[in-house]
Amino acid sequence: FEPWNDPAAKPLIQFKGVTKRFGEFTAIDDQTFDIYEKEFFALLGPSGCGKTTMMRMLAGFEAPTEGTIWLDGQDIAPIPPNKRAVNMMFQSYALFPHLSVWDNIAFGLKRDGMGRDAIGDRVAEMLKLTRLEKFAKRKPHQISGGQRQRVALARSLAKAPKLLLLDEPLGALDAKLRQDTQFELMDIQETTGTTFVIVTHDQEEAMTVASRVAVMDHGRIIQADTPARIYENPNTVYVADFIGDVTIIEGTVTRNGAGYDVAFAEDQPTLHAETDTDLADGSRAALAIRPEKVSISAEKPDDKRNALKGKILDIAYLGNLSTYHVELPNGQIIKAQAANTRRLSRRSFTWEDEVWISWTDTAAVLLEA
Ligand code: ATP
Repeated sequence: FEPWNDPAAKPLIQFKGVTKRFGEFTAIDDQTFDIYEKEFFALLGPSGCGKTTMMRMLAGFEAPTEGTIWLDGQDIAPIPPNKRAVNMMFQSYALFPHLSVWDNIAFGLKRDGMGRDAIGDRVAEMLKLTRLEKFAKRKPHQISGGQRQRVALARSLAKAPKLLLLDEPLGALDAKLRQDTQFELMDIQETTGTTFVIVTHDQEEAMTVASRVAVMDHGRIIQADTPARIYENPNTVYVADFIGDVTIIEGTVTRNGAGYDVAFAEDQPTLHAETDTDLADGSRAALAIRPEKVSISAEKPDDKRNALKGKILDIAYLGNLSTYHVELPNGQIIKAQAANTRRLSRRSFTWEDEVWISWTDTAAVLLEA
């Protein structure tokens, strides 16, 4: 499912040169991008990067200062928020406390003047979709937080919007429930085929649920791609650093065969990296490498060009694996990860140990410094 790579696919949402200013401040900076039907699109980024502003413009609570937003081939500017085929689910859920689950879900349908039987059918369908049949008569305070979240979702989907906006939808749930609910959300999105746009600052959540993740910084989307490509092929140091754990080594590059040699410190061997990045000889670049791609060993490995000797400075025990912070003589710290297959008392590496860290030629990505 990659409609963004299909020239025949029709985008559901189009941002065309959208800028949003609040006074002098530019919250969204000249953004052009598409979101496709049936996509689960995540807007991810640090606080203040403009995620909510993007959402609010889609919902119609804010208008772009420049540029236009199109929904289904139509400029939405003249369409008032309540007439757009767009619904927004808020973090607070905003359920009516005095109404039953059934009435909460039916509320928007009644207001639209839908017939009684049709409402009955539609609410039943929504209750089934969100597995809330047994709770139809209860009031919001008589159900759990996870169930309230599902009522909010059922209510948002009742009118069959083309686009559902979810603002930190799982923010109120505890970690375990949050994970289960992520899978439910994906199931429901797939069953209904509705396009979902989610705002979150939880990168694991975005990576779990989304077909594409858009990583934002200062009002711009820096990279929008599948979770795997965002992780494996970040386009900037910013994205590499924002998603997951990474070591960045800055150095000077020289083309060598299928890749580049990277000189990063006088007393250290030259590294070698094979990536798609196109860099000029002699330019500065950043080598980004994920900890799980770095091996740690007592002896120098003889099968890898990228092998460095250092000392273990810190160990983060993560249960199934540990992350080792290995310090090189020049002060550079490189993170390596190893599976914890042995008992703690028999583990082979500990603090202050001199170790070798190594990785293959294709394990790291080279980015502009
Ligand atoms: P968070 O994760 O904290 O919700 P966000 O990425 O959603 O952040 P936005 O709420 O979109 O960020 O805000 C982007 C920037 O625009 C922020 O610097 C914010 O202070 C500013 N901003 C948002 N709304 C307004 C407004 N109505 N007036 C002035 N500035 C605003």
